Amino acid sequence: MDFLNLPLAPLHPLTLPWLQSANVEAAILRLDLIDPLISGNKWFKLRHHLAQAHEAGAPGLISLGGSHSNHLHALAAAGKRFGFATAGLLRGHAQDTPTVRDLQTLGMHVHWLGYGGYRARHEAGFWQPWQARYPGWHCIPEGGGGMAGAQGCGLIVAQARTQLAGIGWDDYSAWWLAVGTGTTLAGLVLEEAGAHDVHGALAVPGDHGVAENVSQLVGDSGYRLHDACRGGFARVDDELLGFIDACERSTGVPLEALYTGKALLALREQVEAGVFPPGTRLIVLHTGGLQGRRGYL
Ligand SMILES: *Cc1c(COP(=O)(O)O)cnc(C)c1O
Repeated sequence: MDFLNLPLAPLHPLTLPWLQSANVEAAILRLDLIDPLISGNKWFKLRHHLAQAHEAGAPGLISLGGSHSNHLHALAAAGKRFGFATAGLLRGHAQDTPTVRDLQTLGMHVHWLGYGGYRARHEAGFWQPWQARYPGWHCIPEGGGGMAGAQGCGLIVAQARTQLAGIGWDDYSAWWLAVGTGTTLAGLVLEEAGAHDVHGALAVPGDHGVAENVSQLVGDSGYRLHDACRGGFARVDDELLGFIDACERSTGVPLEALYTGKALLALREQVEAGVFPPGTRLIVLHTGGLQGRRGYL
């Protein structure tokens, strides 16, 4: 099984009135369209983990997440597709969400850790009882993070570049994407190696350690982080929902509120503030996450 090759995400022009007024061009790379089930940046983050698990002959995959987790959803779907059993360690107490129902339908063993139990995930010894319970299974850090996750995202850059000529571009100025842990952004920064700037719209508050995580993975240059969380991860307000609705109507591109919607709204703010000079060509990364939308819209 070749886990390292993924379907090509389509790149197409993104036309919005506030981009046109500022003379900024944008194209959107649709990771939401690579697969009906294993969607978005999470599959790229899983590539190397799946290959490692396969090489090690691991019978299954274990990871952690919340009750709307795009990461666990992609993991459960990938496990089913490629013949790995899966176990998910979930934050909080048993809840019935559309995502959790999918996890169970996809055959994932779901364990609820409570809040305290979930907070212990960084402690030494956290994995030990799970490794005893699921011997030989491959453990994947929360969100598919770490260097293996970042390296898996390098392919995103190649996927965009092969399609530039198709939209009449010979080059681009920079990337714009939603950031949670910063792993995907780190992957783009690594792959670009300074060739193009990477702008991250932070979907989580600035004190969540994202800057530190990115800095540990790739150092301090080649990227910029912008606040986009609007008061907290999972905080949704009327202006945001109205903006998403208007964007979806004029572009036909579906968005969710926690990552992609917030990232585009933050892009509008920066474009209107004149951060990008006329003639800038941006590749906006659609990181997927649409399954999570069932939880709150
Ligand atoms: C997980 C996720 C992100 C954040 O990715 P990181 O690599 O953690 O920064 C962005 N957008 C969507 C839709 C996601 O599901």
